[in-house]
Amino acid sequence: MLVERQRMRERQYYAAVEGGGTKFNCAIIDAERNIIAEQRFPTSTPDETLGQVVDFFSQQKVKGHQFTSLGLGCFGPLDLNPDSLQFGYIANTPKPHWSNTPIMNILQDELGCSVSIDTDVNAAALAEYKWGAAKACDVAIYVTVGTGVGGGVIINGRPLHGLNHPEIGHMLIGEIEGIGGTCPFHGCCVEGLASGTSMKKIWKCSAESLQPDHEAWVVEAKVLARLCHNLMLSFSPQRIILGGGVMQQSSLLESIQHYLAQSLAGYITLPQHRSFQDIVVMPALKDKSGLLGALALAMEQ
Ligand code: ADP
Ligand code: ZN
Repeated sequence: MLVERQRMRERQYYAAVEGGGTKFNCAIIDAERNIIAEQRFPTSTPDETLGQVVDFFSQQKVKGHQFTSLGLGCFGPLDLNPDSLQFGYIANTPKPHWSNTPIMNILQDELGCSVSIDTDVNAAALAEYKWGAAKACDVAIYVTVGTGVGGGVIINGRPLHGLNHPEIGHMLIGEIEGIGGTCPFHGCCVEGLASGTSMKKIWKCSAESLQPDHEAWVVEAKVLARLCHNLMLSFSPQRIILGGGVMQQSSLLESIQHYLAQSLAGYITLPQHRSFQDIVVMPALKDKSGLLGALALAMEQ
């Protein structure tokens, strides 16, 4: 009993938050990546949702799951410029109620811990780099194709920020097979053509209900192959990891790999015995990339 208590005391806990446009997934995780407690809250208003997040973690502290560090992988756009007065804010987002929310400060102040914030996709990319499909890759990219499209980049083990953070989902693609995109900002960007939301607008049917032989899937694969083409030539990644709900469509990955090879037309020399099947892959951490990404952020403090 005494030994057990001692072990409890020595065990290091981290707080992890995967902040999505639909739900906030909160967890206490230990250094061995065991999820000790987990709860999800719908993304409604900042007051309501962040109130629930704070209550959850406060209760966890009472239960003995003390932590000093919280990792937050969040939907954006975010202000990640450390010199900005709005550092750690959700910036101007189309998500109602959430523009200009000082999310990092709120969690820091309410929970009395340090908060490390990054985009949900940079966090997912970091987790795949540390523990998943991109281990030991100097350059790795994680793209989610879900309600929207977003992408995060890891270079030498560090998430790429630059001016702020990448917005790979809004890379311009142009019309494919005469299909126009639906992004209110850019029309035919990746998100405007290939997100689950855009697919529903374009084909008048939800992505999961579109039959596998529907032409929508050819267009989808060509759009995502064009994205991968541009990413291969811009960043020279050893891995592009494609996650998100839409990627659950069977044979979509294979189709993207096929069109990518076709569009690059032998221009990039791959290492011996390597093919695009080794480069463009699904997340090894499955649906846990985002949450473990938040853990990775917490651990890096
Ligand atoms: P979010 O982006 O909100 O985190 P998801 O990654 O789960 O959520 O993506 C949701 C999108 O994925 C929806 O637009 C939905 O239509 C689509 N989707 C979910 N399941 C499938 C499926 N089996 N095949 C194709 N699309 C799917
Ligand atoms: Zn766009």
